[in-house]
Amino acid sequence: MLENRIDRRILKENLHNESFKRQTISFYKYFEINNPTEFRNQVYEQWFALNCFGRIYVAHEGINAQMSVPEDNMAEFLKQLYAIPQLTNVPIKQAIEDDGKSFYKLTIKVRPKIVADGLPDNTYDLSKVGKHLTALEFHEAIEEPEAIVVDMRNHYESEIGHFKNAFCPDADTFREEILMVLEKYKDEKDKPFLLYCTGGIRCEKASSFLINNGFENVSQLYGGIIEYAQQIKKLGIESKFYGKNFVFDQRLGESVDGQVISHCHQCGKPADTHTNCANDDCHLLFIQCDDCKTKYEGCCCDDCKTVIQLPLEDRKKLRVQHHQKYADSKIFKSRLRPKLKADI
Ligand SMILES: [Zn+2]
Ligand SMILES: [Zn+2]
Repeated sequence: MLENRIDRRILKENLHNESFKRQTISFYKYFEINNPTEFRNQVYEQWFALNCFGRIYVAHEGINAQMSVPEDNMAEFLKQLYAIPQLTNVPIKQAIEDDGKSFYKLTIKVRPKIVADGLPDNTYDLSKVGKHLTALEFHEAIEEPEAIVVDMRNHYESEIGHFKNAFCPDADTFREEILMVLEKYKDEKDKPFLLYCTGGIRCEKASSFLINNGFENVSQLYGGIIEYAQQIKKLGIESKFYGKNFVFDQRLGESVDGQVISHCHQCGKPADTHTNCANDDCHLLFIQCDDCKTKYEGCCCDDCKTVIQLPLEDRKKLRVQHHQKYADSKIFKSRLRPKLKADI
């Protein structure tokens, strides 16, 4: 089995002790892969040999990769990557804030889709996608009076950072979001739509779906927030993206303009650090400030804090009750975000 089975703590320690630098990069490409497992095994062997880490998804519809590559191996990595015919010159994005500690092992998974869309296949056509706008074009297009800016990410992502005037659907799945957009703007299909997401991969599908549903003027931010953040830094212009860009690695977010636009879910103070509840049976993804982290010992509530002190047997008994309680409570339901997944 091509898999790394060493203990997580040891792997993290190894990463910490590395004497060389790593670069955090990402790329994706929609293209037909006939045998995803075979493809997966081939790239696993190559990238393992180059000491690459990361989280990569392979599906019939393409590849989506977030990786950290040792700087010294970057040239060889790119050479091998570009040697795959469909990936020749695939755009590579560099992370905004990069300490090279984004991943501590290599995981490549075969999935039904690289972006889990929950939509029937015939409801979009990836050969007809929205117009790609550069960061600067997008930056200017936002100001057009008719423009409708839509955040195609999940609520827990847009909560800590989003574009000026953006509609941020309060939803946790791609399917929910896109259907909300469809419903909300069903009478404005002729307006200019500006879509964005983290790196662009979700907008390819979202724009394709909207076009298929009669939207006439759909554009998307090419390269996503990651590319935008780099371009505005390079060009020295003021960001129209406020707050933090949520990322799916150990860091959970990288600041774009230094502002904190969200609040601690426990005390309401400004905060933008996501955490998963320390009670593994709960694992709620939520925003917690440093004070509350100490006070609740990394948990989402007093109940979970009590639970983590208990012996394992007692915890198991409580598990069922706990879940029921939260599923029933309206207040908490609005906060009940899914376990952090990294499929997009
Ligand atoms: Zn707090
Ligand atoms: Zn909890």
